[in-house]
Amino acid sequence: MRQKLLSEGAKELSYEIREIVKKANILQKEGVDITWENIGDPIQKHAKVPAWVKEIVQRLAADDLSYGYCDSKGDPKTREFLAARTNAKGGAQITSDDILFFNGLGDAISTLYHYLDTTSRIIGPSPAYSTHSSAEAAHANHQPLTYKLDPDNHWYPDMEDMRKKVQYNPNVVGILLINPDNPTGMVYPKEILDQIVELAKEFGLILISDEIYHQITYNGARAYALSEIIDDVPGIAMKGISKELPWPGARCGWIECYNRDKSKDFDELCNALDDAKMIEVCSTTLPQMAIPEILGDARFDEYRQNLNEHIGWRSSFIADTLSEVPELIINKTYGAFYNTIVFKEGVLKPDQELQIDNPAAKAKVEEWVKDVPLDFRFVYYLLGATGICVVPISSFCSDLLGFRVTLL
Ligand code: PLP
Repeated sequence: MRQKLLSEGAKELSYEIREIVKKANILQKEGVDITWENIGDPIQKHAKVPAWVKEIVQRLAADDLSYGYCDSKGDPKTREFLAARTNAKGGAQITSDDILFFNGLGDAISTLYHYLDTTSRIIGPSPAYSTHSSAEAAHANHQPLTYKLDPDNHWYPDMEDMRKKVQYNPNVVGILLINPDNPTGMVYPKEILDQIVELAKEFGLILISDEIYHQITYNGARAYALSEIIDDVPGIAMKGISKELPWPGARCGWIECYNRDKSKDFDELCNALDDAKMIEVCSTTLPQMAIPEILGDARFDEYRQNLNEHIGWRSSFIADTLSEVPELIINKTYGAFYNTIVFKEGVLKPDQELQIDNPAAKAKVEEWVKDVPLDFRFVYYLLGATGICVVPISSFCSDLLGFRVTLL
């Protein structure tokens, strides 16, 4: 072999949310009954797709057009509908040309980083949904660049940490927010978002806001969309139907570019993303065609409210139950459908074990816990001893030790 095949950056790619499934599947074969608390797919957690949604999709599937390619940027009518929806919020105003469809938001995230200059860095949260941190690290051939979310302060961003990192690293060109957040379940108050907008203005940065959980809020919270708070800062909102509808199997997500006229560089990046879509031809047609009819239906809001109530109930149950354990830092959640529970410093020790009665499962777990971070060790023991499958928080680009549990 004359040259290296794998890039250094690719070594930073990891997705423990699914890696843990491999381990759980192995234990399942050994007779362990698994409770899947690792994955954010409402359908796999038995959410029912309403009959009226299925009727819309079936009717569209009878239309030959839904089998064809669509416009590279996405179905024009759907983009019109989405632009009007954003504009109605009264903040940044866009046209359908500022919207670009992808095959799921995961696809949008990797394409965005692919087109960003390799020396430019986007600073993102820690812990973070790992697709963002992995893609950023892979593009920069470096460890992810992060600001801290503080579990001792409602998981809000540590603004001092963010400012310092932006100030001392001239390669930072943008700040990423995930709001509502995966994995912490936090929804950011307007005062914090305003401070981030001010920071972006001060240093000439773009803002990127992952809003895939925008309508999933409870416990009295309301999530502010980037378009509402961005003012004249250039930025990208990332949206999709995998969680809110929920239709993750549609592989359908989109980005909205705000304030393109405020920065030539930013406009060029958005144009390059348009070109990227032409190379790929287009994204899945049928789900795009269904979006205006489904999201524009009053029954959708009712459906969402019911689902949010269910998530809110689970959120309170888990927070109330676990807050009785003094070794844990536990926050109430307000959005998305996860809670991240942190072990207080020094609680986890390398020689701790949970009793696993199944000898084959015990042997597997003992093999896996060699040379892993202490929260992986905890998660593997929990899996072997109880079958409960959660995700270690150190895999979310964080030096905290804990685990993420799904609230579905
Ligand atoms: N962004 C966040 C914060 C997520 O949690 C997820 C999926 O879990 C995605 C993006 C990916 O969404 P999609 O299914 O549209 O690729």
